[in-house]
Amino acid sequence: MERQFVCIECPRGCALTVTTDGKTVNVTGNFCPRGKKYAEAEVSCPRRVVTSSVRGMSAMIPVKTRGEVKKENIFAVMKRIRALRINRDVALGEVLDPDIDGEGTPLIATAQYHREQTDGQ
Ligand code: SF4
Repeated sequence: MERQFVCIECPRGCALTVTTDGKTVNVTGNFCPRGKKYAEAEVSCPRRVVTSSVRGMSAMIPVKTRGEVKKENIFAVMKRIRALRINRDVALGEVLDPDIDGEGTPLIATAQYHREQTDGQ
């Protein structure tokens, strides 16, 4: 099997070609070892950092996962994020859910939030 990827590990964006027979993985097109590692992870267990926003009392609170979650879990993670409601002040980096993916990955706030603030403040 052969697959093509664009490496997203840095802005260079190398075009990677991955061939695998199910046992071994061969990567070409990578300028550095990070591309090989990225491609190997993409074919075995792709993962992503999830960024979104959570509903506060008066505004949306930007959030992200602290670490990558399995791509197959992203839909379930987004469902849990949509269901969250925050009714208190939140500090930058505060954990809003300690295990958003069921595998121990926390969801954190990427901005400070005050209950009385409105979007754009
Ligand atoms: S292979 Fe290396 S140089 Fe190329 S995009 Fe990935 S990290 Fe950047």
